[in-house]
Amino acid sequence: MNMPNKSSNRICLISDIHSNLEAFEKVMKSITKLDCPILCLGDIVGYGANPNECIKLVMEHGIRSVLGNHDAAAIGKIDMTWFNDRARYSAEWTANQLTEESRLFLGGLKTEMRFGRALLVHGSPMDPISEYVSNTYVADEVFHFVEDDLIIVGHTHVPLSFADSKEGIIARDYIHGGSLKIASRCILNPGSVGQPRDGNPMASYAILDLREMEFSVFRTYYDVKKASRKILSAGLPESLAERLFEGR
Ligand code: ZN
Repeated sequence: MNMPNKSSNRICLISDIHSNLEAFEKVMKSITKLDCPILCLGDIVGYGANPNECIKLVMEHGIRSVLGNHDAAAIGKIDMTWFNDRARYSAEWTANQLTEESRLFLGGLKTEMRFGRALLVHGSPMDPISEYVSNTYVADEVFHFVEDDLIIVGHTHVPLSFADSKEGIIARDYIHGGSLKIASRCILNPGSVGQPRDGNPMASYAILDLREMEFSVFRTYYDVKKASRKILSAGLPESLAERLFEGR
């Protein structure tokens, strides 16, 4: 008798890798064991020192990804007027590093994708590239804007969920990881692999179990020192190296 393939009910969610190969490799070590589809919410590149290596890993593992604002900036798809100085500098640095293969890969990414019942975008369904779903006001707009039950986003670098319950929208963070039983329409954010910003420097990723309807966020240590040293030796802004230690 064939055992049911449990992994087919689960998907791994990653986001905002930001050219941080050390964090990405560490997360991949944990999730490839699970043998389930891996979906990425964008910003594979920008800020960190290994854009091509991170894109290569995404390609090698057949990870499906949407386009993030930093991916778009690195291939000249959006203008960088709204980027702050260090983001603009790192986008220009990244653009100069990208191989033709990397550029083609980023150029092929769409701003939204679907997986079963889930809608996936980097920012928000209203503005897939730039808008942050970081509070209940924007979450409320999202629930009115689309009809999907599950909306999965990245971009904030903070693992979050917003549940559209009878009592109103319930927001939750996952600074130390944790699980949520999904009982209503939900917006889910797995946090950032390569540049967490919730005060916890550990890389963040999530598993979504579509049979149990459970969203679980995991945090994992990686070699922050090595990643930040590479940022400095690449000549990227010092603050980009420092923030990795603080998770800010
Ligand atoms: Zn990002």
